[in-house]
Amino acid sequence: MEGLLLIKECKYCHENLKSCLDEGIECIVCNSNVHAGCLKRGSVPGGLHGDLFYNFTCQECSDIGSEKFVRQKLSWLQVITLSLYHLGTKSAGLARNGFFHWRDHIVAFIDRNWDILFPNEIKRKKKWIGTVAGRLSHYSSYLFLSGGKTVINKTAWWTLMYPKITPLVLSNIYNVMNLEKQKAKSRNEKRVTSDAESFDALLKQYVPDENLTKKFDISRRHINSIENIDEVDNQTEKKKQKSIKRKILLPNYKDLPKKLMKFTPISSLTEEPVFYDNPSEQIPIQKSQNGPSMKPLKLLDPMCYYNTSLNNISRMKMQKMHVKLTGNIRKEITLSPYSGIYLKPYIRRDVDTFPSWLKLMAEIQLTANKTDPEFILNPRAPIDYTYVQPEHIPAINSLCNQFFWPGIDLTESLQYPDFSCVALYKRLIIGFAFLVPDVKHTENYISFVFTRPGWRNCSIAKFMVYHLIQTSLGRDITLHVSINNPALFLYQQFGFKVENVVLDFYDKYFRTDVQDSKHAFFCRLER
Ligand SMILES: [Zn+2]
Ligand SMILES: [Zn+2]
Repeated sequence: MEGLLLIKECKYCHENLKSCLDEGIECIVCNSNVHAGCLKRGSVPGGLHGDLFYNFTCQECSDIGSEKFVRQKLSWLQVITLSLYHLGTKSAGLARNGFFHWRDHIVAFIDRNWDILFPNEIKRKKKWIGTVAGRLSHYSSYLFLSGGKTVINKTAWWTLMYPKITPLVLSNIYNVMNLEKQKAKSRNEKRVTSDAESFDALLKQYVPDENLTKKFDISRRHINSIENIDEVDNQTEKKKQKSIKRKILLPNYKDLPKKLMKFTPISSLTEEPVFYDNPSEQIPIQKSQNGPSMKPLKLLDPMCYYNTSLNNISRMKMQKMHVKLTGNIRKEITLSPYSGIYLKPYIRRDVDTFPSWLKLMAEIQLTANKTDPEFILNPRAPIDYTYVQPEHIPAINSLCNQFFWPGIDLTESLQYPDFSCVALYKRLIIGFAFLVPDVKHTENYISFVFTRPGWRNCSIAKFMVYHLIQTSLGRDITLHVSINNPALFLYQQFGFKVENVVLDFYDKYFRTDVQDSKHAFFCRLER
């Protein structure tokens, strides 16, 4: 292991080897080294970046006249460092803020390269995926770094603690550390340093270049974008702290001119519910402050407000019996025609959020059953976020025609479902958000974001926009928003900046029954 410190030269080109920068692989016969790049065959077999875990015989020593490579038996630690190192250098674009998803990226990578990593193990152990997760957290103090909790509160994102150190060097130093631990144990010495400290000290001893031994820099990255969502959505914990944080996070509404702030009033549990005699009056009517010229918002189909929004035909055709029985979501993955990636049946399940519409419904039931001491309120269902499915389209088109303008057809979004998010309460569509990829070379465009009235102001749109942003890493995202639409604040929270004002943008679509301005801000999120 002392060999790590010696300066060695490449047998083929006679230049020096550089640890972590221009590494070599050692011939098991003559013990001389060859740069990975100088190998006669161009690279190591399998082509994994930083993969020098072979028993190598150089051309001169080989009995067959050409280089020989025999795969060493790899430990899971080596496999995971190798995967993260290859992903980090060759597929950095997959990462979120530098972190890779343990299953979608790391396990998938190992699965794809199984024959390269384990050529001698044809049969896979049943529990190998669990082993990967176990190793990641076991070495989380000094080899792997987790990227904070995800929106669903799981530690799922990982990266290398020392991103510039190659897998071979990491593995060698890990072995040196274990040897020293064993020696100390045999001498009955008490350990005073933790593994993390010993590892860091050894690494700095063997790799004197400070640039290489730098740890992954979290502060530089925009980790906040992942964690803010947590803060806002996590309704159960730290309510008090959260409200303070939220105040800082959100723009100060009080300082804004009243005119900009036309929220639809929504009954909450603290207010007395209001009952109407005439069913047509049940929809909250927006009263114009500028005089009587504006008409109230007309809903073309008032039943759509209550009804499940998937029409009967698509429901019968597209859903399997157990989906009908167990709720709203398909269990199967779907293939995206755009990316060729299999999309999971749902993006997120949220059991915490309690939108005002459901509060109102609960209130009505409790009031109506006041006299029944046995009455128990049915538990409410979660809010599910999914990718758009064919059976959603009729309902989404209907909502678009009611709330935006007539003639919208979002069938095309099925061509790129990766860039969609549909929020469901059971089978009712309560919100959706769509992004059109590749409107320009490095630009994606958010075309529609909608949440049903009564389901607003509880972070549903926020999660959907967050999801769309995550699908377009490394690309600018642009959008238009009506200049008096409070959704602008949501976009600003995510870092969108107003680029210019487009007068009469909604001219063609302007409806006298909607209060939104026909002028729009054109906003951009720069990446
Ligand atoms: Zn060389
Ligand atoms: Zn040799």
